[in-house]
Amino acid sequence: MLGQFDICRPGSVAEASAVVAERGDDAVFYAGGTELLILMKERLLEPALLVDIKTIPGLDAIALDPGGRSLLLGGLATHRAVERSPLVREVLPELAAMETAVANVRVRHAGTLGGNLCFAEPHSDPATLLIALDAAFTLASASGARDVPAADFCVGFLTTVREPEELLARITIPLPGAATRVAYERFKTHERPDASAAATLTVDDGVVTDARIAIGCVGERPTRVPEAERALIGQAPSPDAFAAAADLVRDLVEPTEDPFASSDYKRHLARTLTLRALARAGAADGGTNGR
Ligand SMILES: Cc1cc2nc3c(=O)[nH]c(=O)nc-3n(C[C@H](O)[C@H](O)[C@H](O)COP(=O)(O)OP(=O)(O)OC[C@H]3O[C@@H](n4cnc5c(N)ncnc54)[C@H](O)[C@@H]3O)c2cc1C
Repeated sequence: MLGQFDICRPGSVAEASAVVAERGDDAVFYAGGTELLILMKERLLEPALLVDIKTIPGLDAIALDPGGRSLLLGGLATHRAVERSPLVREVLPELAAMETAVANVRVRHAGTLGGNLCFAEPHSDPATLLIALDAAFTLASASGARDVPAADFCVGFLTTVREPEELLARITIPLPGAATRVAYERFKTHERPDASAAATLTVDDGVVTDARIAIGCVGERPTRVPEAERALIGQAPSPDAFAAAADLVRDLVEPTEDPFASSDYKRHLARTLTLRALARAGAADGGTNGR
């Protein structure tokens, strides 16, 4: 059962941030509530004040930047809104497809992308793909805003670089160029994913000129594997090159044991999913970039 608490509905980011800054540990941002309310029911968190940020105008917007080079997602956009957005489906279909697989439709309707990223539960999908896509997160507060690369946002189990009074207002995703393909792969046996891999591959004249590989869920936070990325540069996008990169991922990820999977099993999953993501991103008709 939930304990006693108050709710306030600020009209702006500055107002919401000021309330949290003033109340300290007493107050938390409240978006879809799909994680927060579970913690509160379990009495693991007992905030006196929920700062409802859902009604702040514009924070759920999904649009292109004025130059049409980046996709801008408001931190309050729900998984369902991203999944169903005609714009996202057109310019970045792999992101829409990833969102389709998150949780169940009830959670996707209420849960927001910002809530997912800020909660930083290791068994989550979006951060891994956003790291591979080189996204940036805008953290806004009463005193201004700063941009954090997706790869630097989560620093450990349920921990990010966000200050309590900073609100994740926007996610900026540079749209992949015509020569770049994107693929996201996940595996799950329970409610949330056990392991995931995202890859972007840029191929010019039959040679890989850029690669990004991110692995999620196997460790405390999603991470890139630069050694595996570097191994692909200058190679033809072949099964042998992909297998060599996937072997590096298996050897270099830092898995955490959990009740569902041993470290060895997680290494195996990381390798397999990397191989699948690279194979799809490297196939002439595989992966997606929407162009
Ligand atoms: C049954 C179930 C299955 C799930 N399966 C998956 C899955 O397969 N893949 C996956 O990726 N996820 C999964 N999830 C997680 C789900 O995606 C998240 O619960 C959801 O996105 C959280 O968003 P929310 O808006 O409900 O956050 P809330 O619960 O409202 O907030 C979560 C935390 O983030 C803070 N917060 C929220 N929004 C912001 C913001 N904009 N700025 C700063 N801080 C903020 C809150 O203060 C709180 O600490 C699952 C969840 C459930 C309950």
